[in-house]
Amino acid sequence: MKDQLIDTYGRVHRDLRISVTDRCNFRCQYCMPEEGMDWTPREDLLTFEEIERLAKLLVHRFGIESIRLTGGEPTVRANLNKLIEKLAKLDVDLSLTTNGATLPLVAQDLYEAGLNRINISLDTLDPERFKSLTRRDNLKQELQGIEAAKAVGFDPVKINMVVMKGINDDEVLDFISYGRENNVVVRFIEFMPLDADEVWEKSKVMSQDEILALITPHYDLEPVFRGSSPAERWKFADGSGEIGIIATVSEAFCEACDRIRLTADGKFRNCLFAIKEFDIRTLLRENVDDEELVQLFSDAVKDKWAGHQIGKSVFIRPSKSMSQIGG
Ligand code: SAM
Ligand code: SF4
Repeated sequence: MKDQLIDTYGRVHRDLRISVTDRCNFRCQYCMPEEGMDWTPREDLLTFEEIERLAKLLVHRFGIESIRLTGGEPTVRANLNKLIEKLAKLDVDLSLTTNGATLPLVAQDLYEAGLNRINISLDTLDPERFKSLTRRDNLKQELQGIEAAKAVGFDPVKINMVVMKGINDDEVLDFISYGRENNVVVRFIEFMPLDADEVWEKSKVMSQDEILALITPHYDLEPVFRGSSPAERWKFADGSGEIGIIATVSEAFCEACDRIRLTADGKFRNCLFAIKEFDIRTLLRENVDDEELVQLFSDAVKDKWAGHQIGKSVFIRPSKSMSQIGG
């Protein structure tokens, strides 16, 4: 029988997020600063061989079942398809979160390399608002990227929309129409205090209840079994599509969280909001054996807290932004 990555609250961890770079071709307001980001030097990024070693160990020894590649923007890491080929051999649910702008060029390669699923982040359908939110003029490429992902065979394609009060909450119904017309699953995400510019405040969060209140006067929704997914899910009663809401702030799902993370610079994190990280890269480069790595993973997961406490006075904001942690 396999060991389990189990914490002191009895949560078993089976979902691994790997950030492959902290660089990005966008500068989304809710994530990165416009300028002045210090990128991790190339020699400090985990190599594909190092990522493969860690992923293999976590899958074979601890029964990790799903791996999601993220960033920064994962598709700006050169030869990402080579990493996907290696990880696809582990026979896990292998997925990617991307801003989608490069997908017209790389979707086919990613699919052929063995990627199973793809989530594309898109927060507005309005070109001017897109320019202001992402600080890039790439809405057209991104919409083409969504089409490219569907055309090469990814199914379902999911769209992640971060909903922010007074910024893009007037587009929730447009996204519902877009999802239903284009056969993509839209997942609304609550704005989290992980933006580099630290403009987050609770008053800017559109909560799950507020998002639902915009939708339910127009559509009948039926709940779908959630499992260990961070998204609460509903399908449209008329059979045309599905939505999800990731309510990290208003309805934290910490008690069911089964997720662990590796950052691009080789740190292990037991929570998105963790203050403490565990330095795996140094161990790897000291050529330690697998048992030492296993011990570090086990200890780091045991150290996980009960929950993040966002919105309470005890909450401490991590010093890293979403793009540095890997959303
Ligand atoms: N660059 C890729 C992308 O945008 O999909 C992957 C990395 S991005 C950090 C991962 C996810 O985090 C995206 O869906 C993005 O919208 C989300 N995200 C970034 N900053 C956020 C914030 N402050 N609150 C909520 N979600 C955020
Ligand atoms: Fe880049 Fe994704 Fe962050 Fe936007 S959300 S700045 S695309 S990492």
